[in-house]
Amino acid sequence: MRIDVLTLFPEMFDSLRASLIGKAINKNLIDINIINIRDYSKDKHKKCDDYTFGGGNGMLMTPQPIYDAITSIEGYEKAHKIYLSPRGKVFKQNMVSSLTNFDHLILLCGHYEGVDQRVIDLLIDEEISIGDFVLTGGELPAMVIIDCISRYIPGVLGNSESVVDESFSDGLLEYPQYTRPSEFMGLKVPEVLISGDHEKVRKWREEEAKKITKQRRPDIMKN
Ligand code: SAM
Repeated sequence: MRIDVLTLFPEMFDSLRASLIGKAINKNLIDINIINIRDYSKDKHKKCDDYTFGGGNGMLMTPQPIYDAITSIEGYEKAHKIYLSPRGKVFKQNMVSSLTNFDHLILLCGHYEGVDQRVIDLLIDEEISIGDFVLTGGELPAMVIIDCISRYIPGVLGNSESVVDESFSDGLLEYPQYTRPSEFMGLKVPEVLISGDHEKVRKWREEEAKKITKQRRPDIMKN
């Protein structure tokens, strides 16, 4: 999969080089290309923002640099083009696997008060929000999406089971997990988990997952 990210702050993406995503990039499992929108500005001072028509607080990203940056990407017409925006569809686990069906994603990160509507109308296929709150820019949301998608790319996670048996994968939150030691600060690991009886462990985990989901997220339980 190829992901092109358009941003005014390319250095924010340096952290992607760490951890599993960094390994996936090094192994060519995922190709992430960070594009500085400012490089495409035709303004003599490389300006990329301006006042909003109609008045109001703050600045808006101008359409020309964004339009030129996107249309200069090879194959941009066929790529799935996403604008990260608080107005977008709220990102959920079930959207991750559908995004992995695309070979090429283009992620547009806004800043200031956002971007000129005409760029959205002309080029964007989908607006995605990572939650009902407002951040200063689309960079963190883009990294959230890249991180979630990467986990679904074969070879990125060590254990291919990892994406199957975890929160949201079957409409439930994950059951409690324990590792060594079997007793810590007086708290013992539930007996069933050291019983060696796989069926009993499976049932215990299922019951715990249902209990915790009912308590914390009855909304996803209904679904
Ligand atoms: N004026 C915009 C509004 O009221 O909807 C908010 C703009 S926000 C300060 C600047 C940029 O951050 C947006 O263009 C968007 O790219 C990004 N952003 C902020 N919150 C976001 C969220 N919850 N999900 C996705 N992107 C977000």
